[in-house]
Amino acid sequence: MSSPLTPDDRARYEWQLSAAGFGEAGQARLKGAAVLVSRIGGVGGALAQQLAAAGVGRLLLAHRGNLRVNDLNRQVLMSQAGVDQPRVEQAARRLCEFNPSMVVDAVAENVSEANVEELVGKVDAVACCAPLFGERLLMNRAAVRQRKPLVDCAMYEMEVQLITVIPGRTPCLACLYPQEPPAWQRRFPVFGAVAGAVGCLGAMEIVKILSGLEPPRGRMLIGDLRSMEFRTVQLRRDPQCAVCGVPSPGT
Ligand SMILES: [Zn+2]
Repeated sequence: MSSPLTPDDRARYEWQLSAAGFGEAGQARLKGAAVLVSRIGGVGGALAQQLAAAGVGRLLLAHRGNLRVNDLNRQVLMSQAGVDQPRVEQAARRLCEFNPSMVVDAVAENVSEANVEELVGKVDAVACCAPLFGERLLMNRAAVRQRKPLVDCAMYEMEVQLITVIPGRTPCLACLYPQEPPAWQRRFPVFGAVAGAVGCLGAMEIVKILSGLEPPRGRMLIGDLRSMEFRTVQLRRDPQCAVCGVPSPGT
C-alpha cells in the first residue's frame, strides 16, 4: 500500500527519485510499507539504517539484550555510552533521529516460536539478520506461510550470503537448509565492514521488493570479501520441502 509523498519527502529523497523504474510511485510504496528486521547488530543495524535512509515508513526491530563493549566493532547504530543498555532501544532512537518521518517499533525480544507469526503478520516484508539458523528457519517458515517476502542476510568471517525468498515464486530457505547445520556455531569472526556489506545488499533487495523494482528470482549471492569474488547460484526448489513444497496426499 502506498502513501502519498509530501514536499518534504520529495526534498529528502530527491537523489533516488530519478532511479530508473523507481520514481515517486516507488517512493510512495516504500513510505507505505513496514519491514521486520530481526536483530539489529552488525548486519541488521546496517540494513535498518539503509531502510531508514531510503524512506521505508515503518520498521519493526526485534533484538533481545544489552550492548556489550565487544559489539562496538560492528554495531553501527550503537554508541560507547550505550554499553550495558538495551540494544534495540538505542537502535530505534538513532533511526528516529536520522529520519524523524518514519515510525520505529522496538521489541526487546528475539524472534522465537512464540512470537514469529505475530511479528511477521505486522509487516510487508521480513529482513532476517539473525546469526542462528533456528531463527532464520522460523522466519522463513512464517514468511512462506503468510506469503511475505523475506531477505536472508548471512555472513561468516569474510564471506557473505544473500537469499531473497518470494513465497510461491522462488525456492525458500528450507529448500537449501532443511535443518540447522549441526556444525554451525554462534560465535565466529566478524568485521563490521563485512557485516555492513551484506546488510546494505539486503536493504537494497527490500527496497526493490517493496517499490516494485525486480528482485533476483531464486538465486543466492555469495561473496568472498577476502578474494573480492562474487557469484550468484541458482537455487532449486525442493519439491519435498517441508515449508514450501506441495503437501503429499493425506498429509
Ligand atoms: Zn522450500
